[in-house]
Amino acid sequence: MTYDIKEIFDLMDSPTKEDIELLTRAYTFASEAHKDHKRFSGEPYFTHLFETAKNLAGIKMGAVTISAGLLHDCIEDVGIKPEDLQKEFGDEILFLVNGVTKLGKLKYRGAERYAASLQKLFVSMSQDIRVLIIKLADRLHNMRTLEFVRPEKQVRIASETLEIFAPLAYRLGIRRLSCELEDLSFKYVYSKEAKMVQELLKQKSKENMPTLEKFVRSLKKTLAREQMTNIHTDYRLKGLYSTFRKLKKHNNDIEKIYDFLALRVFAETVADCYKILGIIHGVWRPLPGRIKDYIALPKPNGYQSLHTTVFTGDGGIVEIQIRTEEMHLNAEYGIASHISYKEQKGESNSKDAQVSWFRQFLPKTIPFVSASDNHKSCVINDDIPTWMKDLVEQQARAQAPNGIDEDVKADFFALRMFIFTPKGDVVDLPIDSTPIDFAYAIHSDIGNHTAGAKVNGRMVSLDTKLKNGEIVEIITKNSAKPSSKWLDMTKTNMAKKHIRSFVEEGNTKATKIMKPTKIFHFKSKDKKK
Ligand code: MN
Repeated sequence: MTYDIKEIFDLMDSPTKEDIELLTRAYTFASEAHKDHKRFSGEPYFTHLFETAKNLAGIKMGAVTISAGLLHDCIEDVGIKPEDLQKEFGDEILFLVNGVTKLGKLKYRGAERYAASLQKLFVSMSQDIRVLIIKLADRLHNMRTLEFVRPEKQVRIASETLEIFAPLAYRLGIRRLSCELEDLSFKYVYSKEAKMVQELLKQKSKENMPTLEKFVRSLKKTLAREQMTNIHTDYRLKGLYSTFRKLKKHNNDIEKIYDFLALRVFAETVADCYKILGIIHGVWRPLPGRIKDYIALPKPNGYQSLHTTVFTGDGGIVEIQIRTEEMHLNAEYGIASHISYKEQKGESNSKDAQVSWFRQFLPKTIPFVSASDNHKSCVINDDIPTWMKDLVEQQARAQAPNGIDEDVKADFFALRMFIFTPKGDVVDLPIDSTPIDFAYAIHSDIGNHTAGAKVNGRMVSLDTKLKNGEIVEIITKNSAKPSSKWLDMTKTNMAKKHIRSFVEEGNTKATKIMKPTKIFHFKSKDKKK
């Protein structure tokens, strides 16, 4: 099989000579490093790296990020030494590859209600948003080839994608990624519903297409009469998963969903957008409550457009989205479009790369804490979503040495923390929980036989207070059992309940009846140790 590196260049916006040189080196290095490495599908592993790189090029990332995409699995999967990668490609690419490797160890098996907090954790652990974007590009290719993975694993990966990665892509404003990630995982997590929605969309768009086409002709004529000829139009079909969510909101009544097929009108300037809206409303009656001005009031992820829904006059209803080309690029690529601009300017080679990278997103009023501060490199970018600015601000203040950012504790983390199993499964616990709480949160059997615990690889006493982000391993023994002293050493009601019933009811009989805890699902091999 051959992989033509030109496919990557073609997706990029005019790559420079240096870009091409770097990418060619990364391409050669990765194909050499993974040459005996195969995927589940039997394909060469390099396919995955090549496709990940193409996904990155497709959302207009720069050469550095795309190269890191080609190299993202070489430390973890084929044992390339970090020193060697650093010698070959420098600090910045090593930093990105390490970041992706670290994120790969986090696995979500949790309850939906904590997904938002876990999203934050992913962001804060990424340190540099490019790490997260590489992870998203990697996940997109894995989702496209999920059919080759074992069925149980398919559902776990797809739910993780649906709960964590697709919403993150959405929050970064990268519609290109969020929509495809959603629809791919939807098919695995809710396969019956996905088929149903797909059929429904197919049928409805076939029904509505003639109305839309007729409307476009008459709209163009109307706009031409007002000298508005410098426009073009296309349409988009709503994603499967977002249609599904909307259907649920409207008791499965498709007639209540007006935007499964939406007309897009592209204008040259913002003033033209409003003018077009005015002309449309002068001719076609708008549906009340459906006029939205996301230009003056952008969505939290930065999305801008004017939306309206009108009666076409022949019994049809059409949603129209009016925007400039620039707004469209932002909607499709989101934050990615800002980053590639930065990379192109070649400002990212300093040792401080990740710090200065964040710097450009910071609001003007925040002073930098870093000693090697250089205000010249501080470019303020006002197009960045607020939530991202907030997070970036926290990042800059904390600059936590261990990768996990202390300040993200702000809301949720003041009360809860995430503890990891050695395999990267996440358990969330209240602050001040101990290894005993952790053991019971995994399984009551593990709790009841806890003999010792390791935190980040070192033995600790059972009353040690755990901290956010720590990796905890429970050592069990058949002879070990709870004592009433454990009641003072635990924080969660779940642990206390199990301990009490064990101590009171006296021994063996209690152990067997306990059910697994409700939130986290562990495979049987996780249970013994
Ligand atoms: Mn990968």
